[in-house]
Amino acid sequence: MKRNNYFGSGIQVARVYGIPVRIDYRWFFIFALSVWLVASNFAQGSARVLRADRVDVVAAWSIGIIVTLALFFSVFGHELAHALAARSEDIETEEIVLHPFGGLARLRREPDSPRAEFRIAVAGPAASFIFALLGLGAARGIVALGEYWTAATIFWFVGFANLLLAVFNLLPGYPLDGGRVLRAYLWHRTGNLQEATRQAGLGGQVIAWTLIAFGVYIVVAWNDYFMGGWSVLVGLFLRSAAVSVVKATHGTTQPTVADAMAAPVAVEPDAFVSYFVDDLLPLHRQTAMLVAREKRLHGILTLADLQAVPRDRWHRTRVSEVMRPVDAQFFVGPSTLLAHAEVLMQQNGAGAVAVINNVGELIGFLQRGQRVRPRISSQ
Ligand SMILES: [Zn+2]
Repeated sequence: MKRNNYFGSGIQVARVYGIPVRIDYRWFFIFALSVWLVASNFAQGSARVLRADRVDVVAAWSIGIIVTLALFFSVFGHELAHALAARSEDIETEEIVLHPFGGLARLRREPDSPRAEFRIAVAGPAASFIFALLGLGAARGIVALGEYWTAATIFWFVGFANLLLAVFNLLPGYPLDGGRVLRAYLWHRTGNLQEATRQAGLGGQVIAWTLIAFGVYIVVAWNDYFMGGWSVLVGLFLRSAAVSVVKATHGTTQPTVADAMAAPVAVEPDAFVSYFVDDLLPLHRQTAMLVAREKRLHGILTLADLQAVPRDRWHRTRVSEVMRPVDAQFFVGPSTLLAHAEVLMQQNGAGAVAVINNVGELIGFLQRGQRVRPRISSQ
């Protein structure tokens, strides 16, 4: 999903749910800058959003560190939500990276379906919305309890930052989360992942240029070099990511499962093993056979599994008793990259996978080393 390698160096700081968490070195500079900005605001009593009192220097620096750490965990929580949603779609996360412009959950492979893409994409902003509600709610609660303006301001600030994080990420341009939602929608509507990626990437470029223009405007009109410069930087960063995404959809189109799959031959779960061995196997020389009824996959039967059943019991053993029951490692979508499917087939022990469409119907069969057929469609 997010495979761009902008963030080469950094240090691993933790492992959460088995996922390595890495911090980009440049991020430490932003951390220090944030501590300083927050601290100086509180020291001058200029955190005026609520009525924070002026605090002494030690308190100001402490608040700077607390708020910055809270922002750090906000971004981390956002990325962790993506990673856990991906895991529930059977996609592992290589690592979570925290970098100067936020975070990144690097997934091991692309989602198999628009629905999976959508779920993984919205998990992050959903987490940020929840953090925002908690922060803003706590700020209100503290004010209701008494006039603890400084504490209330801290919670308000962190809550508001999370709200911004959620809303900004939902802008409809790839690689922002909103761009992924847009891509999932286009993919669902047209069935063409590459075209959906291209259009969502163009959306990302529009947003990037808007941010750059907005930043320049802020510098010129308000003389605010800091805010303006930041907006330009984020815009440039987004632009390069969006451009490389669009570029990747041109030219070398990587073969997908649909380019190589064969028509699905399947055996019914109630059939006897002897029928499979005597009648089906001679016709289809393959080491694994799909088990299905009415286009629904029930499992996969491998020749290796059959060896566990004595030959004299083949005529009274049903296929469903020996097959490997259906499991995420035994099927892929037609738009899954062939390279990903090859890895899956290597790991699942069957050397083959079923191909299943959006509505769960069996539409193809793929075994290891299958050649790519020439493309018939003209795009
Ligand atoms: Zn996100």
